[in-house]
Amino acid sequence: MTKCPRCGEPMTGGICNNCGFPVTRFKKIAMPVIRNGKQATVGYQPEVWKKWE
Ligand SMILES: [Zn+2]
Repeated sequence: MTKCPRCGEPMTGGICNNCGFPVTRFKKIAMPVIRNGKQATVGYQPEVWKKWE
């Protein structure tokens, strides 16, 4: 379930039904969550990823 980054309402399409925020565009600049077992990073953190390997 995706949540609108503007109003926080859950949404199923690319545009928030509540406020009209276009989340498909937002995803391009959103920071990815990279998981490795119990560990996780938010955004681009190659220094942390190196330690995982
Ligand atoms: Zn919204």
